[in-house]
Amino acid sequence: MPLDLIIRNARLSSAGARDETVDIGIQDGIIAAVEPKIAADGPQHDARGKLVSPGLVESHFHLDKAMIVDRVPLQANRMVRDHMERTASIKHTFTLEDIYARARATIEQCVLHGVTHMRTQVEVDPNVGLLGFEAIEQLRKDYAWAIDIQLCVFLQEGWTDVPGADENLVSCLERGAPVVGGGIRYDKDGPGQIRRVFELAQQYDIDVDFHLDGGYDIKQFDYPQVCEITDSIGWQGRVAFGHGSKFSCLPVKQQAAVGKRLGESGVSLAVLPATDLFNGGRHMEHTVMRGVADANTLIENGANCTISTNNVLNPFTPYGDCSLTRIVNLYANVVQRDGPKDLGVCFEMITDRAARLMRLPDYGIMAGKVADLVVWDEESPADIIAKCALPLAGFKRGRQLFSRDLPTLIRA
Ligand SMILES: [Zn+2]
Repeated sequence: MPLDLIIRNARLSSAGARDETVDIGIQDGIIAAVEPKIAADGPQHDARGKLVSPGLVESHFHLDKAMIVDRVPLQANRMVRDHMERTASIKHTFTLEDIYARARATIEQCVLHGVTHMRTQVEVDPNVGLLGFEAIEQLRKDYAWAIDIQLCVFLQEGWTDVPGADENLVSCLERGAPVVGGGIRYDKDGPGQIRRVFELAQQYDIDVDFHLDGGYDIKQFDYPQVCEITDSIGWQGRVAFGHGSKFSCLPVKQQAAVGKRLGESGVSLAVLPATDLFNGGRHMEHTVMRGVADANTLIENGANCTISTNNVLNPFTPYGDCSLTRIVNLYANVVQRDGPKDLGVCFEMITDRAARLMRLPDYGIMAGKVADLVVWDEESPADIIAKCALPLAGFKRGRQLFSRDLPTLIRA
């Protein structure tokens, strides 16, 4: 029987010898077989012995406030941390069309960098209402051919004492938002917000993804409360949070204890190096702290961690090309991790581990899984991270999404 597509001569990261290749047969968007030589006929893509990985996963992203850096007030003083306020000051100017256009431009760049799945945070504060939710929900449907987008609705600018905030959030859950989030730092009652998030998670039977334990104050942490409630309501494996910068301010022994605790409760952490580096240590004039949690240490002690882009071209991170491998390279450089083992774990954090955070049961390269695949011009996952590699080709449900030609040197 002919197949829809056969990717020939693919090298998988799990392969033993470097010259061992397999064929990946695809039918109806699903991987039908992974074998040394598939006899069936069908259209072919020759991977020429290059590494083939599952699609990349952006586990923590903000599509609705991407690409606004050219319209916010410039920061007045490096030592003042005012990124949230500068963003909030223009949110009332957002329109549905504007959010959609920026998010579309961003998502297309992500796809071209090999991303096939994304959890995007969506703000529904009263100054923007449901515009972001509606724009991103439309984008999710329009781009389902290229990427699976999962919406996490949350309140960036406070919740428990903000009139209209709770109503906005609940109406998104009523309309089917699959994840509820939290912005603990900016709520007058952080613990109260955490309790409310879990209450809604139970009510709607959905997953949870906070922003918490950013900054550097190690006298107070939010993750223990999150772990306790996760355990008490049986939500293990369904809870995540972004940042965790405070963990980088702890002695390694205590970091290990954090990793163990997160692992026990099945709470995942998304480390967001670009944003944490740009915003952290603003109180320090020199010898500025880095504020990037060492996810490898947390993983070594039992936690599930991921790395993600978070922000692109906005006050929280005024840089970005949507290259997730560049972000992981930045992370590895900052936490001083190298070598095949540690960089291999870094690659897991934008593939398998991120798929675990998002709970994607059909993810991976084996028969029966969805054919979301990326081809790389590199020998190993560690090389991809070390060189900020760009993918040569990407496939979503077995359909080719893009190809990238290597530059040619024009010799004298
Ligand atoms: Zn975020």
